[in-house]
Amino acid sequence: MGSMHTGLEERHDWPALTRFYAARAKGGAALLITGGIAPNPEGAVFQGAAELTPDTISHHQNLTAQVHQHGAKIVLQILHAGRYAFSPACVAPSALKSPISPFPPAELTEESLQKQLHDIATTAQAAIAAGYDGVELMGSEGYLINQFLSPRTNRRQDRWGLDRRLFAREATRLTRAAIGEALLIYRISLIDLVEGGQSWEDIAALAQELSPLVDLFNSGIGWHEARLPTIAQNVPRGAFVHLTQRLKSITPVPVVAVNRIPVPELAERIVASGQADAVSLARPLLADPDWPIKAQTGRRITPCIACNQACLDHTFEGKAATCLTNPAAGREAEFDAAPATPRRIAVIGAGAAGLACALTAARRGHKVTLFEAAEEIGGQMRLAAKIPGKEEFQTLLNFYAAEIAEERIDLRLGLRARAQDLAGFDATVIATGVVPRKVPLAGVDYQQALTGAPLGARVAIIGAGGIGFDVASFLIGPTDFATEWGLGDPAIRPGGLAPPQPAETARQIWLLQRKPGKPGRGLAKTTGWIHRAHLAAHGVTMLGGVDYLGQDSQGLHILRDGQPETIPATDLVICAGQESLCDLQGDHVIGGARDARGIDAKRAIEEGTRLGLAL
Ligand code: NAP
Ligand code: SF4
Repeated sequence: MGSMHTGLEERHDWPALTRFYAARAKGGAALLITGGIAPNPEGAVFQGAAELTPDTISHHQNLTAQVHQHGAKIVLQILHAGRYAFSPACVAPSALKSPISPFPPAELTEESLQKQLHDIATTAQAAIAAGYDGVELMGSEGYLINQFLSPRTNRRQDRWGLDRRLFAREATRLTRAAIGEALLIYRISLIDLVEGGQSWEDIAALAQELSPLVDLFNSGIGWHEARLPTIAQNVPRGAFVHLTQRLKSITPVPVVAVNRIPVPELAERIVASGQADAVSLARPLLADPDWPIKAQTGRRITPCIACNQACLDHTFEGKAATCLTNPAAGREAEFDAAPATPRRIAVIGAGAAGLACALTAARRGHKVTLFEAAEEIGGQMRLAAKIPGKEEFQTLLNFYAAEIAEERIDLRLGLRARAQDLAGFDATVIATGVVPRKVPLAGVDYQQALTGAPLGARVAIIGAGGIGFDVASFLIGPTDFATEWGLGDPAIRPGGLAPPQPAETARQIWLLQRKPGKPGRGLAKTTGWIHRAHLAAHGVTMLGGVDYLGQDSQGLHILRDGQPETIPATDLVICAGQESLCDLQGDHVIGGARDARGIDAKRAIEEGTRLGLAL
């Protein structure tokens, strides 16, 4: 299990954190790497981020003991954020501010540099005392060690700059000395994905220098300030494994492949074909703590759809991480599923909320009938799966379909339930979802657009929320990740960037909102920039502050900044939000049917799961 920040560390919620790791160890992960732990306050990702302090050692000892009980090993990741530390106390090789941080770092003096090395080694030693089987040094993702390695961030003229690999070597050497024979993993940046990043020559030289000191190389892909997505849904599965394979060819040390390896078939192929010696899963183990055991025994795995919505987005919003497909993640005790006294339950609507409720209730022993007006399950998620880059939603729908069959849920497709259909049930759950909001403009709604309504060469999208952006992506069509984003090769260009070459888009697209300012500001924290960049790269005109005046054969007439304009659109797609669809009486109302504002799969699945546990 790869390192993930859960947010429980800073809440000092040791019982929840211990349960979280123990559940993954029980689920079959052989080696767990903790979320990053700062070696000192100046290296903390944010002020107050977790450190391994003497007063927490006993909690760590309990946590590691629980993990060991399940036969797994656990190592502590030491992460010094360098200039990424969100704090005025941040330090770096050179006084160069990161584009993603408001804080200019102080350049490390020789004395403070030695202190950083000392603190890293001391933390490693303390980790062993706390029961960890070893440590991982975070040498990638643009954090301190990576900052020393790259000419982009290391402009020093002393020995730490003239030999940019010296700090990484010293940190590794001192850590080895501090932990003796214990496991030492080094997470090596295989592609920085920033201008002025390392060349493959630099990376290979470092790997060779560190090989005698480390037990395992974990792969690191891209800096946090990279302008390429590295783990989002639109990144193809296994997109970076070729770099781990290249590392393997130059070191005798075992190597670990990472990023977008959500399913066992791919993991198996990577290891069996010799591309890597092991595979690291992070988010997939949030989605299903039993992933490894289920893979071994051929059982169905709750999929991670790489959405970032409940894990990374939560982390960046200062909330505890959990999972869209598995709302129990990180709060296992709250979601304990006790067997129920069986009752007959009717769930109306097989969208995200209804599916989660029906399955949770059925797993607890209830006899569930699931009504769905459409011919297929999925509701809004079925539409999401049609968006290029969001195909992982189909994996989730396939999972739900198989689970419905296994749990013997009586699924009635193509049946719009009426009041009389609900007689004879002990409890009824209304999960009928939402309908598109109507506006006084002639056009198709997003549901029609995504299910094949014919559209001309010039399309204006009314409404620029998540769905407006999705419809624009749908109209752009499938694209090639590497050429669109400029994924290159560090052996050809240091940093591994290539000139982005987005494909020509056949359609002219406008994305409009009434709110002033650029559309897309309200999109998710860790993925909004990807959607904005994708649309911009394909020439979508995104306009805010628009008043809709009306339409005629010339197109859509608007006022912008008080000035009249005509958008020569042949068609309009209305993405102006949604309204609850709730025309049946029931004992419980959940998801969009209860409240359409801000409804998404994350909230719907959580509401459905919680009700399924309470029924
Ligand atoms: P939304 O985010 O509320 O956006 C609705 C859009 O319609 C806004 O741009 C709004 O902008 C416009 N609008 C509202 N009333 C209007 C009216 N009467 N006339 C014209 N325009 C109007 O809703 P959504 O795009 O339908 O998304 C629904 C939910 O799905 C959201 O909560 C979102 O989180 C979720 N979702 C998430 C993702 C994702 O990538 N995470 C993707 C898709 C959907 P103005 O009022 O400024 O015109
Ligand atoms: Fe995966 Fe989304 Fe769950 Fe994160 S929230 S673990 S990306 S499914």
